[in-house]
Amino acid sequence: MSHNIILDGHVGLKPDLQNITVLGSTGSIGKSTLDVVARHPDKYQIYALTAYQQDELLFEQCTRFKPRFAVMLDEQAYQRLALRISTAGLKTEVLCGVAALEQVSAAAEVNAVMAAIVGAAGLRPTLAAARAGKRILLANKETLVMAGRIFMDAIRQSGSVLLPIDSEHNAIFQALPDQYSGDLSASGVSKILLTASGGPFRNTSLADLQQVTPDQACAHPNWRMGRKISVDSATMMNKGLEVIEAHWLFNAPADAIQVVVHPQSVIHSMVQYVDGSVLAQLGNPDMRTPIAYGLAYPARINAGVAPLDLFKIARLDFVAPDFERFPCLMLAYRALRAGGTAPALMNAANEVAVDAFLTKRIAFLDIPRLIGDVLDKLPHVAVNVLDDVLLADAQARVAAQDWIARL
Ligand code: NAD
Ligand code: MG
Repeated sequence: MSHNIILDGHVGLKPDLQNITVLGSTGSIGKSTLDVVARHPDKYQIYALTAYQQDELLFEQCTRFKPRFAVMLDEQAYQRLALRISTAGLKTEVLCGVAALEQVSAAAEVNAVMAAIVGAAGLRPTLAAARAGKRILLANKETLVMAGRIFMDAIRQSGSVLLPIDSEHNAIFQALPDQYSGDLSASGVSKILLTASGGPFRNTSLADLQQVTPDQACAHPNWRMGRKISVDSATMMNKGLEVIEAHWLFNAPADAIQVVVHPQSVIHSMVQYVDGSVLAQLGNPDMRTPIAYGLAYPARINAGVAPLDLFKIARLDFVAPDFERFPCLMLAYRALRAGGTAPALMNAANEVAVDAFLTKRIAFLDIPRLIGDVLDKLPHVAVNVLDDVLLADAQARVAAQDWIARL
């Protein structure tokens, strides 16, 4: 990880603070990250903030955090933000486009990058941070699902410190030995127990799942999240993506990753050892805990999270997942076992399907049908270079759109 902080007189970056780039600062994870950063002005300062098209919110964030750079993806939103920033006399430089995202992820002054863009759009800037050797706080699980080998190789080659922010993977990271070598059995680990809330439809019958609406799908019982991951939680594709994420992060084979439905979302995941020990990490369902962990690792800082009240929680339940009502989970295991570009195909088909569901073009149960058909139809090949992944992603999007058009 790079420690060279450059004092920049232009926007007054202080030399003794960690410079943070927040990719996707207007999203759910982005806002929680800024909440934690704001609690520790003696430790962190914002180097760059980025968003897709929410120029109003990004402007407010710039006013408050005075970053050196702000990046908008959307050209018109970029024009609006640039005007607001100059009218307000802020010194933040406004940039536009994917290359700018890569630039603020890899810049020499940056110490840590919060990767919190949603979906495949997060891949390029997150990879740029990995290649530049930054500390990476990884929320964007799609990067690992699409390009796990390429990303993990980049981390190893650059010496990046990779900290999982997904609450389950953060829990597993905390429950593994300090010097975990990447070899589960050498560490005495027999299984990773990946907990799942079961989402808003945990108790909904298969017949009723056919009629559910986007708003019902986005009403998660325990977490407030962006709409894409909320639908993923409702289909349990989120847990499927997380199985693949765990595979890459911890070098765990599919058979060593077991999904456990735990409706309270208090245990964020567990590691089971050969001696019978099971280590768990518990906490209120609040993403500021893993975010603070990632920012301060190996130290601990206040995250603004209320202490866990075990008496109020009183009980913790565990049940096996239902693969019949939630076939997306099985599709993800299938894609992981198939390897190569299969997870990237699945991820892209899922993104198209979720968008179509959110815009009411397909029904909830069409999501797994669409993904299964795309996985059956398209060949999956080995991943050697990034273009293999990007090609698979593009092909799956076309096939998924065709599927919807034929409905
Ligand atoms: P969100 O929809 O709330 O925010 C997404 C952010 O990405 C926004 O800032 C948006 O402007 C930006 N963005 C969207 N499309 C973009 C594009 N094409 N190019 C550049 N920027 C773009 O999403 P979220 O819930 O914060 O989730 C972000 C990531 O973190 C996802 O990968 C999700 O799976 C993961 N994650 C989220 C949570 C959670 O609690 N929200 C938990 C675990 C993991
Ligand atoms: Mg999670």
